[in-house]
Amino acid sequence: MQNKSEQLLKTAQKLTELGLNKGTAGNCSIRFGDGFLVTPSGMATEDMTAASMVQMTFDGSFEEGKIPSSEWRFHCDILKSRPEINAVIHTHSMFATTLACLHKDIPPFHYMIAVTGADTIRCAPYALFGTQVLSDHALAALYQSKACLLANHGMIALGRDLEDALAVTIEVENLCEQYWRVLQISNGQLGEPHILTEAEMREVFQQFKGYGKWAID
Ligand code: 13P
Ligand code: ZN
Repeated sequence: MQNKSEQLLKTAQKLTELGLNKGTAGNCSIRFGDGFLVTPSGMATEDMTAASMVQMTFDGSFEEGKIPSSEWRFHCDILKSRPEINAVIHTHSMFATTLACLHKDIPPFHYMIAVTGADTIRCAPYALFGTQVLSDHALAALYQSKACLLANHGMIALGRDLEDALAVTIEVENLCEQYWRVLQISNGQLGEPHILTEAEMREVFQQFKGYGKWAID
C-alpha cells in the first residue's frame, strides 16, 4: 500500500506541477486490493503525504479518521465497471474546463483524439460535484473512451496505470487548447474546423495499434 500511496501522491503532485490542477481542485485514484486508494478531500497537494491517501472499498466504505475525495463516487463507479482501467484522474485544467463550460463535445478535429480510444471526447451534462448523478453522467460519457469533459466543471481521464492516465490527461488538455484556438480563429472569416471522417479515424486507430505508448491494447 505504501508504494501505491506514494505513486498516487506523486501523480497528484505532478498534476499541480504541470499546472493541470491548482489549489484543492481535482483528485486521482488507483486500484488497490479489493478496492482503491483515492486522494483526500479539500487538501492542497503540498499538504498531502502518502499517509493522506484514503483506502476505500467498492461499497463506499473508507478508512476511519480520513475523508476521501468528494468525487469518490465516480472513482469508485469507474474502477468497478471498467476492469481494464486501474487509474482515474480528474482535473479542472484550463482548456478542458473552458470547453466544458460551453458544453462542447470535442470532435475528431485532430487525429490524436484517438488516444482516448474513441473518436469524440464527450461532455457529460452538468450535475452538482460530489453527487451520484455526476458519477452516472460521467460513466455514460466515458463509454468506450478514456476521457470525458464534465460540464461547468473539468475533465476525467482514465488509464491502465497512473502513468497512462497522466499521459491521457496531458494529451486531452493539449487537444482542448488546440480546439479552443481553432474555434477562436474559425469563428468568422475562416470557416469551421475540418473534422476527420469516420473512415479517416478508422485508419488512425489502425495506425495506433503499434504506435509507442499509445499502442492500442
Ligand atoms: P476534493 O478535494 O473533494 O477531491 O474535490 C475537488 C474536486 O475537484 C471536486 O470536484
Ligand atoms: Zn472537480
